[in-house]
Amino acid sequence: MLSEISFEFFPPKTQAGQTKLQATCKTLNKSNPAYFSVTFGAAGSTQHHTLETVAALRQLSVDVAPHISCINTHKHDIDNMLKQYQSIGVNRLVVLRGDYPEGEEKTEGDFHYANQLVAYIREKFNHDFHIKVGAYPEIHPQAKDAATDFENFKRKVESGADEAVTQYFFDIDAYARFLERCEKTNIKIPIVPGIMPISHAEKLLRFSDMCGAKIPPQLKKQLLSFQDDREGLVEFGIDLVGKLCEDLIALGAPGLHFYTLNQTEPTTTIVSSLKR
Ligand code: FAD
Repeated sequence: MLSEISFEFFPPKTQAGQTKLQATCKTLNKSNPAYFSVTFGAAGSTQHHTLETVAALRQLSVDVAPHISCINTHKHDIDNMLKQYQSIGVNRLVVLRGDYPEGEEKTEGDFHYANQLVAYIREKFNHDFHIKVGAYPEIHPQAKDAATDFENFKRKVESGADEAVTQYFFDIDAYARFLERCEKTNIKIPIVPGIMPISHAEKLLRFSDMCGAKIPPQLKKQLLSFQDDREGLVEFGIDLVGKLCEDLIALGAPGLHFYTLNQTEPTTTIVSSLKR
């Protein structure tokens, strides 16, 4: 039985975008999500939009989990941000390292890796926040190898993470293997699969390339075969991702986290077809 679903947004940069997101949030909220998360621009440019978006969503009385990343960030920045979040009733966080701008693999701040930020928040804010971290069933793209990557994931758990949300994937075996690894290593926190609904073939392929999510060759061929048939692609995506969600529930996934890209569809159709 699936315990919870959650939805991810990115912060809009304009007032019109914020207004539209409020409407999107109200529609998605009818599916009774546990929370909405809001991404954070690690490169700096969109960081204040995250706080604005979180504050606007809190006005709708929904539970919000801001993402927070640590590269090029100092402890006092974290303290200030988290105090602001506490003042508007936020008590969940998605804690990440963030991505370096290309070619710059060094931080100007106090943290290098997400586990250090998790440990800092635990030390400074005790258990005021429920901390979620990222997990990569298909391995983080910069990791040396799977075993090292898993050791690094374990470090985040040992630093105090309460839960992990995965990068999206289309190969359920990758998630099953990751769960097995957790079990063998006695990692007991919930590992919630990240779900990417399909609405644009090229955009999905480009983004997957950037973030290291694998698109199986057969799926790539199918996606590209739709060419300009957007409706056909969306329908195909709803079936494929809906089936993936059902299989994940059958496998015992503790929840599903949807990367909505700020759209109600196709997420709403997929969620409404699930047996929850
Ligand atoms: P880490 O856990 O720090 O790992 C990063 C890399 O370093 C991995 O290869 C790991 O194996 C290695 N590593 C970790 N610890 C150590 C160590 N102690 N010593 C040596 N190597 C180590 N990005 C954003 O900019 N904004 C967002 O809002 C955002 N949201 C995301 C949400 C989810 C659910 C996920 C899965 C990713 C998100 N990302 C976001 C992307 C994320 O920032 C990148 O994938 C980033 O490259 C890694 O972040 P992390 O927190 O997983 O890093």
